[in-house]
Amino acid sequence: MLTVRVERAAADTVLARVATQVEEASEVKAATQLFIDRIEQRYSVLVVALTLTLTAVPLGFGAHFTPTLLRAMTFMIVASPCAVVLATMPPLLSVIANAGRHGVLVKNAVVLEQMAGVDTVALDKTGTLTHGSPRVTDILGLAGRDEAQLLTLAAGAEAPSEHPLGRAVAAAARARGLPVPSAQGFRARPGRGVQAIVDGRDVLVGHPVLLPDGDPGDRARAVVNDLENTGRTAVVIVIDGHPAGVLALSDTVRRDAPVAVSELARLVQRSPVLLTGDNVHAARRLAVEVGIDNVHAGLLPQDKTAAVRTLQHAGRRVLLVGDGVNDAPALATADVGIAMGRAGSDLALQAADAVVVRDDLRTVPAVLTMSRRARRVVIANLTLAATVITVLVGWDLLAQLPLPLGVAGHEGSTVIVGLNGLRLLSRRTWPTLGGERRAAQPAADDVPAANNHPQPQEALAGPGPS
Ligand code: ADP
Ligand code: MG
Repeated sequence: MLTVRVERAAADTVLARVATQVEEASEVKAATQLFIDRIEQRYSVLVVALTLTLTAVPLGFGAHFTPTLLRAMTFMIVASPCAVVLATMPPLLSVIANAGRHGVLVKNAVVLEQMAGVDTVALDKTGTLTHGSPRVTDILGLAGRDEAQLLTLAAGAEAPSEHPLGRAVAAAARARGLPVPSAQGFRARPGRGVQAIVDGRDVLVGHPVLLPDGDPGDRARAVVNDLENTGRTAVVIVIDGHPAGVLALSDTVRRDAPVAVSELARLVQRSPVLLTGDNVHAARRLAVEVGIDNVHAGLLPQDKTAAVRTLQHAGRRVLLVGDGVNDAPALATADVGIAMGRAGSDLALQAADAVVVRDDLRTVPAVLTMSRRARRVVIANLTLAATVITVLVGWDLLAQLPLPLGVAGHEGSTVIVGLNGLRLLSRRTWPTLGGERRAAQPAADDVPAANNHPQPQEALAGPGPS
């Protein structure tokens, strides 16, 4: 018998809320649009005032009524800013809808505008460049401790943890048929580890810095060094204040990570930065594998935030990709934060500006490319709209612009600007990188299974702009 208790409705999951936010993206106006809106109000008043002037002044000088009215009306039509108003939101919302279909939920148009200006990319390691499903490879008991008992206690403490390492430790115990005792007083320290009372013992599992100073700690540190030198992640187990064992874990690099990294480097003309809480050996090894040469290891959540701030103070606009609770503050600090949706913690999804729900890192450079395309389209649209208005207004004032031609020019430019934006809705505009599936519909394994998140793509199937 399987008993299932549902604690929250599907619509209440963080990812579902993010999806709702994306659906409501059209309500959040881009900065460019807000600027245009402000100008447009005054501009419209000006157009009406000029139309009245163009009618009244010539009439006052005894001009004929019909041609004067015709010229003034033509002026009012061709000077109207319809195309300008339509220049910005359709391209941005088209990209949001297109990205949604390809598994990236961009929360709003402001995010896309910011993304287009990004010049530095920072990446988290565990769960972002790696699969985030590490496996325990070795269990080393200190001072003759029993390995099975060590793993049992560690698994008990880690069972409530959402961290990939925590899940790996619990899974290792289950795989060996060991019981996973329940823990009391569980406490997670993001970027450090967990602590709980298991079977009456105070169990601490986490980063080697948690080791107490002095002799037994030093012996454990020697074991840790050996493991780290092989590129693995070492997690220490401290029981009732005494170092008791070391677990070695290794994670696999995402197959798509090297392509995504090189594409991101090409886009921003700069090698991405690796920000990780893991040890420097594991970090360097992975960095070489994916093609990153700028590595910051051993970072706590606040250090990741500080690293992002340092880059920003140097005038960089930073895009950060991360997944964990430990990345959430840095995701919020970065100019643009993108969270990996499958392995990602709810906090990271909330803090991020965009969420990758299809578990593919290549969608990050793809959405970056699209944000830049959207910016180019916005600029092209505004240029076209302004040029048409200037030419038609000049023609009407200096010569005789026939009304039908004025209407055709005005409406024509409005339609062209609108269609130019909607072009980005087409699936064909989505960039594909090395060997990426061109699946229109996400495959079954694209559904973030671990978190029971509903599939938000469907909600985004319709075109965004209205
Ligand atoms: P990353 O920045 O690579 O995503 P984290 O900041 O999440 O890594 O973790 C940094 C380090 O903190 C890990 O390498 C590990 O040593 C330790 N750690 C964090 N959480 C846990 C946990 N639940 N169990 C064991 N170790 C942990
Ligand atoms: Mg991580």
